[in-house]
Amino acid sequence: MNASLQTTAGTAMKLEGVSKLYGPVKALDNISFELRKGEFLTMLGPSGSGKTTSLRAIAGFIQPTAGRLLIDGRDMTGVPPQKRNIGMMFQDYALFPHMTVLENVAYPLETRGIRRAEREKRSMEMLEIVGLAHCAKRYPKEMSGGQQQRVALARALVFKPDIVLLDEPMAALDKKLRGQMQIEIMHITRQVGATVVSVTHDQEEALVMSDRIAIFKDGRLEQIGSPNELYQQPCSEFVADFIGEANLLRGQVRALPEGVVVEGNGWSARLPAGDPRAQAVAAARNVCVVLRPERIRAVEVGSESGNAGQGVIEDKIYLGVEYRLVVRMNDGNKINIRSRDIAGIAGMKGGDRIGMAWSPDDIVIIGA
Ligand code: ADP
Ligand code: MG
Repeated sequence: MNASLQTTAGTAMKLEGVSKLYGPVKALDNISFELRKGEFLTMLGPSGSGKTTSLRAIAGFIQPTAGRLLIDGRDMTGVPPQKRNIGMMFQDYALFPHMTVLENVAYPLETRGIRRAEREKRSMEMLEIVGLAHCAKRYPKEMSGGQQQRVALARALVFKPDIVLLDEPMAALDKKLRGQMQIEIMHITRQVGATVVSVTHDQEEALVMSDRIAIFKDGRLEQIGSPNELYQQPCSEFVADFIGEANLLRGQVRALPEGVVVEGNGWSARLPAGDPRAQAVAAARNVCVVLRPERIRAVEVGSESGNAGQGVIEDKIYLGVEYRLVVRMNDGNKINIRSRDIAGIAGMKGGDRIGMAWSPDDIVIIGA
């Protein structure tokens, strides 16, 4: 066996430099990552970023132009979709209308030559897990949208696939049902120990469901990590902006004896000399400071320290649990603040000058 084919134990799938060209369009550009067994991975990115193409390459509907794909350590080059042990659920579910719910779920077992008694037993167990055992004899048209989707999920899981692929699984559901189904699908797939690759352009869905998220942009894998890692340590302005809400402040770097400071018009972000990032930032000229809205404290003008800014309140919105402020800085850029200091902010009004302060631990610096 070719040594490079081996993957570490616990790896369900590995993509090695996978690219897909459609004429001049690089739908996928050198994608590499590993998927662990039992992991729920979501591919997240704007429309046209390569998510569906990745899914179709994993399923075997398209062959990569370059690179290769291993499932359970086996090179999938040339292996047709039906020879890959993969379950799929797409946005339109595609249940068979002339078959009962039970027959729909049992279908993948039938095509795999499992005998009737056994496939009915396994299908009923799966329907039990998705909470629809009592609907086994119904037809799809007698079920609600959310129920149909759970049938489709049961059908995708019933033959214990190596990997389950979900393409925009919530797209056909209304907003409220979507939130419920996100949590249900997450619980069901974890309960059966399935390894899942899901696709969405909805960041909230990705955050709710995933162990890790792969952020796609222009056919490239921009960053892969846990929701927390992507939020706390985005590698680019794109990721910072895509996961959660971010203020992106571009400033000039100045090295000081006691550390390094990034300055803009009306704000500065200072890292003490002992900060592990200080050296790399000192070597850069222009960088971007990522500042999350909930990490900024509104303070009185003049009381700010080295990590601070000033501006004029443009909007103040009360949301019960927090205030949202939009502050215009000297350079015209706007900063969003979310603050739970209700008493501190209640007295401020539009047009007031305010100070802003934050901790150096709360900023991420990109471009150093
Ligand atoms: P996403 O699912 O993230 O919206 P896709 O993977 O569908 O994106 O598409 C990625 C890029 O590849 C887009 O620019 C798209 O237009 C292009 N593309 C996808 N499929 C084809 C195809 N069959 N022929 C030509 N171009 C394609
Ligand atoms: Mg798509």
